[in-house]
Amino acid sequence: MPQLMINHLPPQKNLQMIATVSEEADTTPSWQQQLADVVTDSDELLQMLELSAVKASLYLPKGFGLRVPRSFVRKMQKGNINDPLLRQVLPNVQETTAVSGYVPDPLLEHAHNPISGLLHKYQSRVLLTVTGACAIHCRYCFRQHFDYQANVPKQAQLLAIQHYITAHPDINEVILSGGDPLSVSNRRLFGWLDALEALPQISTIRLHTRLPVVIPDRLEAALLTRLAASRCQIVMVIHSNHANEIDTQTLQALREASSYGLLLLNQAVLLKAVNNTLAAQMALSQRLFAAQVMPYYLHLLDKVAGAAHFDIHQQEAIELYWQLLKHLPGYLVPKLVQEVPSHPFKMPVDIFQGRSS
Ligand SMILES: *Cc1c(COP(=O)(O)O)cnc(C)c1O
Ligand code: SF4
Repeated sequence: MPQLMINHLPPQKNLQMIATVSEEADTTPSWQQQLADVVTDSDELLQMLELSAVKASLYLPKGFGLRVPRSFVRKMQKGNINDPLLRQVLPNVQETTAVSGYVPDPLLEHAHNPISGLLHKYQSRVLLTVTGACAIHCRYCFRQHFDYQANVPKQAQLLAIQHYITAHPDINEVILSGGDPLSVSNRRLFGWLDALEALPQISTIRLHTRLPVVIPDRLEAALLTRLAASRCQIVMVIHSNHANEIDTQTLQALREASSYGLLLLNQAVLLKAVNNTLAAQMALSQRLFAAQVMPYYLHLLDKVAGAAHFDIHQQEAIELYWQLLKHLPGYLVPKLVQEVPSHPFKMPVDIFQGRSS
């Protein structure tokens, strides 16, 4: 995935960025500059967080390396090696431990991949992996071993995708995903929107993206205006795991997006030592609500190789969920789900198992 970023973000941007910042220190870099100028060096990250002393335990992964935008780093607590945001991005040597049951492709997605870049698992919706690139590398990501380069639709496949959708009249919703669909240029993104809006059967276009949380400036007026002008319903499912990810700037950007009439939802992954407490989950739901984002899904971790240290026992997840049901209004409780390969929908977790009431 890091190689992919280089393809559409020329490295000279990094230099431009440095020049701009030193000349006019109070100018915020554009989202494109922020996307190009991410932190990829663990030493630099730890230095920024005043954590240089923990250097010794650093681990440098070969493939899916550290990648984190500076605006996300600024939301981390200085001096705290256990910061819940840091834990999501800092490579950990535990990733190298093979744990039985944790595999490279836990969802067997290749079984639902009729055309390169198109996943058709659920009857009425298809998912397009429009890019392999992400602004951030989340250590628990189930796609971390996935060969995106081979599975990103090329312009020539656009017609094939349109034909596939037309041949399946049950499809009424298209999900733009990745990678992160908001890491591509507006020109490319709007090209996808144009192509999908041209299909009368499509009533909803959904974006699954972490960009609003990691680089809130991505929610620029040009993007929001284009989305608001769509003849389709637009749903944006953001991906935030912790209330600290939604600082004032992010909150304002999300509220702005909401004011354009987009439906904003959130999906999170339940992660050990990140958000597996009642306090963390309540704060997340309440903070999302303040940003006009409704909690949608809380996923149990997909059992991907290298992420076992983020997993919690299913029974612990169920106990936590009961607490959420008790403490939050129904509309702030996300659905607790688990992805089961080849199942026709995201599987609700049976919250009565192992309990007497
Ligand atoms: C999660 C997912 C969807 C969307 O599922 P919803 O329950 O509608 O949110 C669609 N396709 C694939 C392949 C998915 O993984
Ligand atoms: S943003 Fe999403 S797809 Fe990208 S690394 Fe994180 S979890 Fe994976």
